Amino acid sequence: MASEGPFGTEMVPGVWTMPSRGIEWCDCGRHHVLDRDIVFGFAQDLVEDPDWMTHDEVVDTAMDLWNYVSVCEFFLLGIRRSASAVNGGPAPRYSFERGLEIVAYFSKTWQGCPEEICSPSRDRED
Ligand SMILES: [Zn+2]
Ligand SMILES: [Zn+2]
Repeated sequence: MASEGPFGTEMVPGVWTMPSRGIEWCDCGRHHVLDRDIVFGFAQDLVEDPDWMTHDEVVDTAMDLWNYVSVCEFFLLGIRRSASAVNGGPAPRYSFERGLEIVAYFSKTWQGCPEEICSPSRDRED
């Protein structure tokens, strides 16, 4: 787990063709493959400048894709790790395609939050 340094720059051979190694992003049970059209669909709804994705827009796109209304530090760390894998490191903004790739890489590697060691920023009331 610690073998990937935060600024590892090894190239990702193909984010769109790499197999999913994480939990299923879609719970419809049909094992939907996450393709570029799907990520693009979520991103285009919230990206302000179609040439770029800010880091926050990458986070928001991933949250929408996963249907999360709030996220914890593990999620944000996962996004940063994905930015490192795809982009060589997190940045304030990325080219639009690169932003899509970061969301895709994250979504194909996200293992979910290890809740037992997670300290949520807010507690659930019910
Ligand atoms: Zn599905
Ligand atoms: Zn968490």
